[in-house]
Amino acid sequence: MSIPTTSLPDGTPVPVLGAGTWHYAEDPTRRRDEIATLHAALDTGITLIDTAEMYADGGSQELVGEALAGRRDEAFVVDKVLPSNASRRGTVEAAERALQRLRTDRIDLYLLHWRGRHPLAETVTAFEELRAAGKIRAWGVSNLDTDDLEELVGLEAGRAVATDQILYNPTRRGPEYDLLPWCAEHGVPVMAYSPVEQGRLLHEAALRAVADRHDATPAQVALAWVLRRPGTIAIPKTSTPQRITENRGALDVRLTDEDLAELDRAFPPPTRKRALELL
Ligand code: NDP
Repeated sequence: MSIPTTSLPDGTPVPVLGAGTWHYAEDPTRRRDEIATLHAALDTGITLIDTAEMYADGGSQELVGEALAGRRDEAFVVDKVLPSNASRRGTVEAAERALQRLRTDRIDLYLLHWRGRHPLAETVTAFEELRAAGKIRAWGVSNLDTDDLEELVGLEAGRAVATDQILYNPTRRGPEYDLLPWCAEHGVPVMAYSPVEQGRLLHEAALRAVADRHDATPAQVALAWVLRRPGTIAIPKTSTPQRITENRGALDVRLTDEDLAELDRAFPPPTRKRALELL
């Protein structure tokens, strides 16, 4: 069964479940498992792979390139430029380096990792140049709160923003107050990073109770909860191939009103604006 998709603003379908790669390529003894995990992800339809030049200083990009040898067309590659490189020229150069490390001729979605000192207008101009040259297919941002997004779409070219990749999980519900509604209103899908809070939330009693009712695992419930909102993509990271099967199983968990109410009691939704948190 294929994975449900959501659409980028240009109509490109992307799977709602992807694979993160932070901390990949940091430990050579894990490399085989990391590559096997990405192959297991592709085999099961988790074709969106998220990396960044920050991860292992380019090592994660290289590992993704190695894993995708002969399978590039199966994958939707998301990559990120560091803010310190996000000048007009620096963004283009970072993308060129990324293409080499990823051993590919295009990045499917290229993001500004977080906002830094370079004006958004410069980064967007570089993104549009890269897009015109076919080196990236679409671009977006990460860790931008509503005020930054307003500024971005105030730029003419800024309206092409294809996603905001943000910290979102049951213990990080701040974005529900205004950021998620803003994105929904503007047709910008949200990519939820650290959807299982890097493993920290998996011991929460409420998650366990809901999981038990569904014969599921806490990780599956956390992912199903993130994915309950239309237009949301979750990108959990694992380097254990078996967990790919487990995490994919989250798509079969249908949370009931009772489950959602129980999770609301344990992890209350925001009642006021909170600044976007990041990891
Ligand atoms: P996640 O919430 O995805 O948690 C990853 C941790 O959870 C790993 O330790 C993993 O262990 C464990 N885990 C995964 N699945 C399961 C499971 N089914 N059961 C138990 N444990 C599990 O955190 P990340 O911070 O890695 O976020 C995901 C991805 O999002 C990153 O890898 C990166 O690609 C992206 N990201 C982007 C950021 C940004 O600023 N744009 C910031 C942070 C992340 P194991 O590997 O041993 O399975």
